[in-house]
Amino acid sequence: MEGKKSAIIIGAGIGGITTAVYLAKNGYDVEVFEKNGSPGGRCGQMIRDGHRFDLGATMMLMPGIYREIFKSLGIPIFENGDIKPLEDLYKIYFDNNEIITFSPDAEKMKIQHEKIEPGSFVKSQKYVTDGYEIFQIGVHKLIGRNFYNIFQFANIRNVGMLIKLKTYISNWAYAKKFFRNRHLLMAYTFQNIYVGQSPFNSPALFSMVPAAELIEGSFFPKGGMFAIIEKLLAAAQSCGVKFSYNMAAKTIKVSGKRAEGVIFDDGTEVKADIIVANADLPYVYRKLLPDKRQSQRLDNMKYSCSAICYHWGLDKVYPQLGHHSVFLSDGFREGLDRIFIDKSVSDHPSFYVHAPARTDPSAAPENQDTLSFIVGAGHVDKMKKQDWDTLAKKTRAAVIQRLKQLGLEDIEEHIKFEICFTPEDWESVCNISRGSVFGSLAHNLLQMGYFRPHNQHSRYKNLYFVGGSTHPGNGIPNVLLSAKLTSERILNN
Ligand SMILES: Cc1cc2nc3c(=O)[nH]c(=O)nc-3n(C[C@H](O)[C@H](O)[C@H](O)COP(=O)(O)OP(=O)(O)OC[C@H]3O[C@@H](n4cnc5c(N)ncnc54)[C@H](O)[C@@H]3O)c2cc1C
Repeated sequence: MEGKKSAIIIGAGIGGITTAVYLAKNGYDVEVFEKNGSPGGRCGQMIRDGHRFDLGATMMLMPGIYREIFKSLGIPIFENGDIKPLEDLYKIYFDNNEIITFSPDAEKMKIQHEKIEPGSFVKSQKYVTDGYEIFQIGVHKLIGRNFYNIFQFANIRNVGMLIKLKTYISNWAYAKKFFRNRHLLMAYTFQNIYVGQSPFNSPALFSMVPAAELIEGSFFPKGGMFAIIEKLLAAAQSCGVKFSYNMAAKTIKVSGKRAEGVIFDDGTEVKADIIVANADLPYVYRKLLPDKRQSQRLDNMKYSCSAICYHWGLDKVYPQLGHHSVFLSDGFREGLDRIFIDKSVSDHPSFYVHAPARTDPSAAPENQDTLSFIVGAGHVDKMKKQDWDTLAKKTRAAVIQRLKQLGLEDIEEHIKFEICFTPEDWESVCNISRGSVFGSLAHNLLQMGYFRPHNQHSRYKNLYFVGGSTHPGNGIPNVLLSAKLTSERILNN
């Protein structure tokens, strides 16, 4: 009888762990090696003095994709009631103190829309319905399938699909067909930053994001986003997957047309029938493989933006802040230009705040608060003068100033501790090229579908990739799909 096939997975991010479960359930002996001391990568967790922080991802969007993937793995996800829909998606604050609360409740949306721009509610419904159609076409024809050759992607039928997906117009220009009011334009396009893009030069395809949020809702698990990782870990362990932490892969050993094994920092060498790299794809080509030409080609591609993140444990609760808050600055476009052109941060940045204890009190000690801030920033660029420590200090001051304007006058005095991640930290902690955490590779049309680096190496056919920088792209729903598609490719071989 033939023995079990073996697989090594480099990285215990959500992409790596999900692939491990798929493979183990299909008869593989799987071992996952992670460079850090704990799993999750950009969906990891930190706990300090009773304050629990989600390190990166905080919003559980597109629940249909989670449902599909978890069902295919036989893992209950929504069934035991510890993942709840949020009543409101987020509150958006503008500089003139105008507030828009994004909510799946149509009546709530109608009242706000008609106050800001009479007639805009009906238009918003069209924007959302059309955006949701884009989402459905996108999932079936672009992001939810493997492309085995270029003809499956670039064919006459798909030209029609690309037109339907609104890839010919920028998201901002497209939104202007629906709204005149600047705040509404900002409210329906800022979500591009979720995939590290500016709405001014990314396709209107991404109008699918607010549409999917408003139609399918936003959810939050008890225990934070890391609870998703825990569910996957439990399933992986129950089907025999082994995990080794503090094991950084140093080289993928290749011979002829095969990847033979992995050599780790401590000199250990492990061999397997297949290798799956969940670590950032351009990093893997640059650092772990001998393939310098391909690595150079990847270097010349476009990269997403990065983020400066602050995690605060506070000894006071600020109930003014809901679970998710978004502060959009009047200098919206200028801010995006500072990020994408100058590779820096705006002096008056737009930013996002996560207050998980609003939904799950266990995220903070009683009468205390746990807040995380995400501020879009340029990625690490050796050609620019970037002093991230100074930028992080300046940006922190701007964030505090904006919170004071909202009435949180004393917030700075109540910060017990702070953990800050700059683009350089993202680069070193998770090995994300240029600290481009929302990609790393950008999601422009020429880097999507068949044009995104493939999930199977073209020479070493037993070397596969999974995660945000391969097909279909970044964000947890995409990465879950990536795990399914990569596993399908492996299992169909
Ligand atoms: C600030 C921020 C906010 C976000 N918000 C959201 C959100 O609200 N909703 C959402 O859906 N998505 C969000 N995302 C995106 C989401 O977190 C990512 O798409 C997802 O977690 C990426 O998973 P991954 O498996 O592709 O990669 P990673 O999580 O990066 O996992 C790769 C793993 O490989 C490990 N590794 C790297 N090099 C090596 C090596 N040499 N040897 C061994 N191990 C190695 C890394 O340490 C890491 O654990 C956010 C991301 C960030 C950064």
